[in-house]
Amino acid sequence: MTREKATPLMTQYREIKSRHQNAILFFRMGDFYEMFYEDAELASRALGLTLTSRNNGAAAQVPLAGVPVRAAGEYVRRLVQQGHRVAICEQVEDPKFAKGIVRREVTEVVTPGAAYTEDLLDGGRNNFLCAVQVASGLAAIAAVDISTGEFRLITVQQEDGNAALSRLTPREIILCVDHLEAQTLCRGLDVLITERPGWEFENANASQVLLEQFGLRSVDELGVGAGDALAAGAAGGLLRYLRELQPGGLPHLGRPTIERPGGVMPLDDMTRRNLELVESLHGGDRSGTLLSVLDRTKTPMGARLLRQWILSPLTNLRAISARLDAVGALARDPLARGALLTALDGVRDIERLAGKTATGRASPRDVRALGDSLRRLPEVETALRRVVVAGALETLLQQWDACADHATAICRALVERPPVSIGEGDTIAPGVDPALDELRGVARGGKDAIALLQAAERARTGITSLKVGYNKVFGYFIEVTNASSHLVPADYQRRQTLTGAERYVTPALKEFEEKVLHATERIEALERQFFEALRSATGMAIARLQVVSGILAAIDVFAALAEVALREGYVRPEVSDDFALDIIAGRHPVVERMMARDQFIPNDVHLATDARMIILTGPNMAGKSTILRQIGLIVLMAQMGSFVPAASARVGITDRVFTRVGASDNLVRGQSTFMVEMSETSAILHTATARSLVLLDEIGRGTSTWDGVSIAWAVSEHLHERTGCKTVFATHYQELTQLADEFVSVRNYNVEVKEVGERILFLHRLQRGAADRSYGIEVGRLAGLPQPVIARARVLLKLLEGEQLVAGLAGRPMLSKQPGGSDQLALFTTGVPHPAIVRLRQIDADRTTPLEALALLAELVTEANREPSA
Ligand code: ADP
Ligand code: MG
Repeated sequence: MTREKATPLMTQYREIKSRHQNAILFFRMGDFYEMFYEDAELASRALGLTLTSRNNGAAAQVPLAGVPVRAAGEYVRRLVQQGHRVAICEQVEDPKFAKGIVRREVTEVVTPGAAYTEDLLDGGRNNFLCAVQVASGLAAIAAVDISTGEFRLITVQQEDGNAALSRLTPREIILCVDHLEAQTLCRGLDVLITERPGWEFENANASQVLLEQFGLRSVDELGVGAGDALAAGAAGGLLRYLRELQPGGLPHLGRPTIERPGGVMPLDDMTRRNLELVESLHGGDRSGTLLSVLDRTKTPMGARLLRQWILSPLTNLRAISARLDAVGALARDPLARGALLTALDGVRDIERLAGKTATGRASPRDVRALGDSLRRLPEVETALRRVVVAGALETLLQQWDACADHATAICRALVERPPVSIGEGDTIAPGVDPALDELRGVARGGKDAIALLQAAERARTGITSLKVGYNKVFGYFIEVTNASSHLVPADYQRRQTLTGAERYVTPALKEFEEKVLHATERIEALERQFFEALRSATGMAIARLQVVSGILAAIDVFAALAEVALREGYVRPEVSDDFALDIIAGRHPVVERMMARDQFIPNDVHLATDARMIILTGPNMAGKSTILRQIGLIVLMAQMGSFVPAASARVGITDRVFTRVGASDNLVRGQSTFMVEMSETSAILHTATARSLVLLDEIGRGTSTWDGVSIAWAVSEHLHERTGCKTVFATHYQELTQLADEFVSVRNYNVEVKEVGERILFLHRLQRGAADRSYGIEVGRLAGLPQPVIARARVLLKLLEGEQLVAGLAGRPMLSKQPGGSDQLALFTTGVPHPAIVRLRQIDADRTTPLEALALLAELVTEANREPSA
């Protein structure tokens, strides 16, 4: 490749670009950001910009694309949303005073995980940038939301790493290149992944950057202990990266909150989705989710916190009770709650506004919004103190600090509706500074004087259409139409000719102009100075602002939960460390909202040590999945500190809730492979404990009936015998109801349906016992299957019902239409076992690797499907 001779500008460009290879460089040139080479090509494709080229002094043509500075925000947003990084390179000295080429520096790199601007953020959720590491069975996550200043260090068991990470829904993840096995944690996440060098994750470096960030001498002061070393290492990598993105630093970063294994329930991805906690199965938006039902928060901080709480239910009885006490206190006092909700209503996103203020990004309008929000806090406090404060509310009120000094300072200094940028209208309020007020008087007086001058000139010249105007190039001028040009006096100096008019100036006019323009300039400078001083003084209080915004978020969530509880008729669950789960008249919080009031049929559920497994049968559409999910939701709601949709509920704390939906029902991944279903089930069998709640919906469905029944049976057996956890298994395999005969703690339930003539009525009512027959054919009829097909299905069903299907699971019933035309059921229950069974017996499961097991499974399936030789 021939290197063209570079101009000094392109040398500067290359030098800067070499330090930002993985970003698109927005290179400031006057009123434009220019992109060169590959960046230009990429941006022109991504943004639909015209690609031009620039003659680089010598012969070479450099591909070039540019965007105007005032529209840059929108372009940056689009690039970042497409997953790119954008490095903003500014001119850092005034071109007027530059010797040679203007100095330029990258002032910020915007990435999906490191964004401040509102159009890249969602008020209702955090925008986390995470660094992850795994080692010796543990997974560590360091997470920073630079828009709020939140900083979390999380350590979990390695198998829970993916769940913990996906709960944060990061936009960007940083991995250490030397330990890429941490990639497994990112499974199923749609994020930008950035690899960083190994030394950044080493403990010495990590401690160093943490100390520098918080100005400390020992990391002990952060509460980082020996057990947090892995998370601290991740924080090291994360903070180093952020330093590159934000050369201006992160003055608003809060001290890390440290989460260690055991504090919150590690909800896995499948469970989170199947229960539709924060995103729906179809499309992933909020509607139809638990979040959409519970979210009556008034502030964005509250909305974000609620989302976090839903995704991390607690497992500690005291912590859960403290939250329930707080919700209870607010639920009991509708008047105080109403006052509280009103007070919270005008409170804006204090957390993000404070973050912008501390990093010098807040506009006058932002700072005023922060001040106005803070000004509402005494009202919030008054409303709150009227409640009989209990539980978590008490702790919150002890730390209450409304930052009244800052509220007053801001509201005193700024006008009520300041502009987005200085100079576009008054920013600083009158009375703040006498010099400023005086200048304003001059500016205004100058304008008045010009009006007077216009009147005087009209009178003197007799030109009634004479106008005094202003434009940027010529300043103030007197405009006279051509019709009156003969009346123009001698002292008018011509400046500009238009079609139909001439523009003049006079010495008096220029004198006024001087005064006015000078004053305007001074005003702007003074306003900027005052505003920046105010902003930085407010920014210094970032720690206090973050505390109060955290308190407000929690109060907002408690008030929202109390509000929902009352409106929807929820009750306080009795949470305990016992095993049992007892729900009287429980409802599904989301499904019940989709129907008219009282249309939803409530159901009781009882799970205890001696009745820990429920086999739930019933036809399609009976309501099995709904009950299953409602049990999971009630438990999760109770453990996050919410009231629950039931007449009463006793909830023994679970360490985990697992939900699995069989392949054909599994809309989640759009891939209904049996393999996925099995690997998910296997994850439960490996991790569930006696304290877990396992909800299985049609597991085993992704394969042939007999495989399916066998697997479902074996899984149930394992959960009942080995794990001993609470289990609810919804299935249309009638065969599974026989589990109750074999195992003492298995109970059969079914969802009642009634036959009315030839039709069936879904009562959605849970009752003891197995469902007596399959209504599948009725459903098929309702769905409009042709009459002959229905008739034939009925005949076949009769035949099947005549046989003992589970006589021996080794047997393989074959349904075939015999050549003679008569229907006959051929059951291969001869004394000779099926060849597949023989193979199975030869397998030594303990010495089979997962890969071999897969191959074997495939072989067995082929074997089993082979036509039996006559
Ligand atoms: P299954 O899993 O047995 O096929 P679903 O749980 O999917 O059935 O329920 C089918 C439909 O029945 C739901 O979409 C809902 O509209 C209705 N339904 C379920 N449970 C109830 C209930 N308890 N009360 C009223 N309607 C219900
Ligand atoms: Mg179902």
